[in-house]
Amino acid sequence: ARMALHRAQKLEAVGKLTGGVAHDFNNILHIISANVQLMLRADGPPTRKRLHNVLDAVERGSKLAGQLLAFARRQPLHPSVVNVAELLDRSDSLLQRAASDAVKLERSSAPDLWPTLVDPNQLEHVLLNLIINARDAMEGGGHIALRLENVTISTAAGQLDAELAPGDYVMITVADTGHGMPPEVMEHAFEPFFTTKPEGKGTGLGLSMAHGFVRQSGGQIRLASKPGAGTTVTIYLPRHTAHALPTQAAPDMGALL
Ligand code: ADP
Repeated sequence: ARMALHRAQKLEAVGKLTGGVAHDFNNILHIISANVQLMLRADGPPTRKRLHNVLDAVERGSKLAGQLLAFARRQPLHPSVVNVAELLDRSDSLLQRAASDAVKLERSSAPDLWPTLVDPNQLEHVLLNLIINARDAMEGGGHIALRLENVTISTAAGQLDAELAPGDYVMITVADTGHGMPPEVMEHAFEPFFTTKPEGKGTGLGLSMAHGFVRQSGGQIRLASKPGAGTTVTIYLPRHTAHALPTQAAPDMGALL
């Protein structure tokens, strides 16, 4: 439990850091915009000084971007053979705590769930973010159903999936009974820094990280949502088979941002 708490605190620190960076970027853009507006309004001697202000702000911005990338790169993927059901058994108290008291988190898993080849820490991070999102969408309480299933996407006519290669997948669904997403939110939900949450609460990085992680793990993530009824996030992770070697180079997390 102490480990879980430590991880939760670390994730919170990551959220605060990225939120802070986004805030700094906003300030920098404001400085640039204010100086350019002043130059557009009145030309004359102050222009040089204002151009220097703009240049300083641009330099600060590019330094910040470099720091953010360096931070992201400190988390390379370390894939190993993972049974997602067992991973969730180990993370249960962390996930229950994230769901909060008002929200009931129900888990179910198909027996003999197939193994996957993923970074267990990153997957836990992603699922924790999905639970937090679900909780945040249910202010007055509600239900979260976390389901694990084995699915086979076949090439048979009518079953062909445009985005998912035929094969065996472990399907993870996180379904909530929250306020859902209007189409204009759905459209941008995977973009980094897109958030509808109040300042300091959302970083807008949860779904974009989830998207990057799932894609780099060879899978797919999908959103289905009905405003007023709820949201379902579905993740497909390829089944690990013995002949798929876990020795591929670890993808760079920096590429996810
Ligand atoms: P954050 O949670 O920090 O805002 P995310 O990338 O995780 O960043 O989510 C982006 C946005 O997508 C959220 O601000 C919210 O508007 C919407 N969203 C995500 N998950 C859900 C959900 N389960 N129900 C309703 N809206 C959601």
